[in-house]
Amino acid sequence: MNSLIYADNNATTAIAPEAMQAMLPYLRDEYFNPSSMYDPAARVAEALRTARHEAAELIGSVPPRNLFFTSCATESNNWAIFGAAAAAPDRRHVITTAVEHPSVLEGGKELVRRGYDVTFLGVNSRGELNLDDYVKALRPDTLIVSIMHANNETGVLFPVAELARIAKETHPAILFHTDATQSAGKVPIDLQGDFRHVDLLSFSGHKLHAPKGVGVLFLRAGTPIRPILIGGHQESGRRAGTENVPHIVALGAACRIARERMKEESHIQAFRDQLEAKILRRIPYIEINGAGAPRLPNTLNLAVHFIEGESILMQLNAYGICASSGSACTSGSLEPSHVLKAMKVPFTAMHGSVRFSFSRYTTGAEVDRIADLFPLTVQNLRRLSPYWDPARNEPRRDLPSSASVRV
Ligand code: PMP
Repeated sequence: MNSLIYADNNATTAIAPEAMQAMLPYLRDEYFNPSSMYDPAARVAEALRTARHEAAELIGSVPPRNLFFTSCATESNNWAIFGAAAAAPDRRHVITTAVEHPSVLEGGKELVRRGYDVTFLGVNSRGELNLDDYVKALRPDTLIVSIMHANNETGVLFPVAELARIAKETHPAILFHTDATQSAGKVPIDLQGDFRHVDLLSFSGHKLHAPKGVGVLFLRAGTPIRPILIGGHQESGRRAGTENVPHIVALGAACRIARERMKEESHIQAFRDQLEAKILRRIPYIEINGAGAPRLPNTLNLAVHFIEGESILMQLNAYGICASSGSACTSGSLEPSHVLKAMKVPFTAMHGSVRFSFSRYTTGAEVDRIADLFPLTVQNLRRLSPYWDPARNEPRRDLPSSASVRV
């Protein structure tokens, strides 16, 4: 039996031992409701305060009172968009991108159904936004711009600091929201520094080694936003529902560890770059989705021509390697990823995307094993592909013209 190689950390992460340790007392003995009046409850309320402080430190030492705990980044993103819309019903234009996570993208589509005008900005083949298009889209009646910091599929980073600054300089009333679910804990975020024009920022526990089912929404002081969960005084009356204390405590610990270790974790990028270089050397007709754009250090999204991502994943799974194709959220559907579609990935590679995403727990031996087994997998599957000529060991020469190859 092969030991498991987990290379799907953009889908979710293992709980950090420190986060697990921090959480356990609140699952066992410290079960009190932090809103209750007795001393044991006050201890739990204090644990919440500590966690809020640690989460606030991770994103630029902002005032902890500006952070609100939610059930997940999906809730944070929904709250940002629909809460802002509810607070300013006269502002009917929204800007987002075609490559957002569905928790923002579908929010935009829902606003269209409600009669809003929503601009979905496209990207180029490297996954980058066009700054001129962005500037042209900003309007006096724009309610909110919601643009992710890092893309979950490709790892491509958008220049959020600059985009937020431009929005504020153009029309100061525009709110700027960023979904930082994939970047928080992986790259520095400074809401008091270069991100000072960002009004709302979301992230999630389970992408940074805390458990699933806990998220954060940062709201800069004075941001006009209505709650979407009502019926309780929790979170300063802005997000009702008894707090998920154990998971919030774990999130706080995970944020502290992420902040302390970020600088020491350059091996993550080194592993990604090594794997990328080996794969490009060993396999023909393969491209890196997002190559040339600034990217997260842990993410490698490959466009493998002439075969299906799902078949690659099945074979990798047989080797005990966990990776993903397109986005975990859309797998199960035959539709190619909306992100790769927006990047106009060529037809022959649209269905052949594979994403490896590493974490601080990834080892060099695991990366070496992927570098050995991935080329073998691709080679074997290509022999079975209708686009491949096994006799010549190259693409068939009579491919339809739509099957253009960029390499
Ligand atoms: N935004 C991005 C960029 C994500 O990658 C994800 C998780 N796939 C989410 C939002 C949703 O996070 P959660 O699972 O906490 O709702």
